[in-house]
Amino acid sequence: MKYISTRGAGPVSASEAVLRGLAPDGGLYVPESLPALNSGELEFLKSCSYGDAARLILKKYLEDFSEAEIDDCVSKAYESERFASKDVFELRELEGGLCALELYHGPTAAFKDMALQLTPRLLTKAAAHCGERDRIAVLVATSGDTGKAALEGFCELAGTSVCAVYPAGGVSELQRRQMITQRGSNTRVIALEGNFDDAQNAVKHFFSSESARAALARRGAKPSSANSINWGRLLPQIVYYSLASVRLAIGGAVDFAVPTGNFGNILAAYYAKRMGAPVGRLLCACNRNDVLADFINTGVYDRRREFFRTLSPSMDILVSSNLERLLFELSGHDAAFVSSRMDELSKMGHYSIGETLLKKMRELFSSASCGDGETLETIERLWREQNYLCDTHTAAAFFAARGFESEKLVVVSTASPYKFPVAVLSALEDTAPADDWDALRRLETLTGIEAPKSLRELESLPVLHTERCAPGDLVSVLSETL
Ligand SMILES: *Cc1c(COP(=O)(O)O)cnc(C)c1O
Repeated sequence: MKYISTRGAGPVSASEAVLRGLAPDGGLYVPESLPALNSGELEFLKSCSYGDAARLILKKYLEDFSEAEIDDCVSKAYESERFASKDVFELRELEGGLCALELYHGPTAAFKDMALQLTPRLLTKAAAHCGERDRIAVLVATSGDTGKAALEGFCELAGTSVCAVYPAGGVSELQRRQMITQRGSNTRVIALEGNFDDAQNAVKHFFSSESARAALARRGAKPSSANSINWGRLLPQIVYYSLASVRLAIGGAVDFAVPTGNFGNILAAYYAKRMGAPVGRLLCACNRNDVLADFINTGVYDRRREFFRTLSPSMDILVSSNLERLLFELSGHDAAFVSSRMDELSKMGHYSIGETLLKKMRELFSSASCGDGETLETIERLWREQNYLCDTHTAAAFFAARGFESEKLVVVSTASPYKFPVAVLSALEDTAPADDWDALRRLETLTGIEAPKSLRELESLPVLHTERCAPGDLVSVLSETL
């Protein structure tokens, strides 16, 4: 199976798609056609391990990888005790037909680990297939959780280096601390003076700059992206939707409510559905930055609006890159259509998809947005009514789920509540401390739920990264030093 760009370039092999990240025409790589799960495979998924599900699904998409290579990547990512849960994820039955799919039991306590424990390994194998001898210099823009998960995923992986760029002041103290204490001789962290979109744009500029590439090439390095625009990031996420839907479907399909930012996680659910997994409707939960909710309701994507910092920073995004892949699928692989919409978005800040596509989209997706007040109320209500503690992102999905009619609804839980302890505690107590570490300890005492070890030990780790940069300088700085 080959991969093509949403803007027309290609086709390329799976390895090239994973290695390049972004296509040369600025589009995103997608499979030329989607593989299907047959009835025997769906049956197999009911009782197989997480690793075996990953082997099955990866094999269908990575035709130029051998079984031994896939097995090596999967076993190191999911079967070597990097995840605190033996099933990798946890499914928790709650009241009212709800279920929580907890994806945060990996080393950095956010769902990004589900992909980023695997992606780096796929990337180094892809590089070998393409005859690439240069060091893979991974550059990732992060609104908080991706950065740490990428640093952890690439740390000390031979033939790679990893650099995380985060918006200064746009991440929590704990998230920042997770990054600046990162160990590993091949890791680097930069605080960018701006918001997440500034960081993402600066990184995109870097990738589209010929002179930056040439400068890197002279130093024997090749840039690559671990952002969720990389197919190697998206692919691992199809695994848990396939598994969870098969396990929970009794008769009908399973609906998912997904806290959404860059549209990667929810898009993986869409791909699982297209492969034949019993995935029903998809509920896209946004925070006050509700550009996606408006888009799903009206078919008009309009980024010309105020940007808000919210209690759910990983969803503070105005341009959701992965939406481009959905447009490509819904339009029947119409690269000209996608190119012109993306062109309008970058030149004018908005585009419209028209009635026909809107109707198609609304058959698959619903949406709702959740303000900070509602986020806190939802955390408090879930704790009071069900003794269930969730983080601020997950709360947005629980809030969206309230008015949603469903036989079986799974709320996707994307971060440990201890990743955002001040906000979560403030939902439960009026006098919450402003310090992440005090709040973490108080939350443990109050709820009796232990924080992940990787977060508890953070406070005492030494700071190893202090670099800062203005958005306009990033390309030139990295050209010389990445
Ligand atoms: C990244 C992230 C999201 C958003 O996921 P997308 O794939 O970008 O839509 C939601 N919640 C948390 C905690 C995250 O880290």
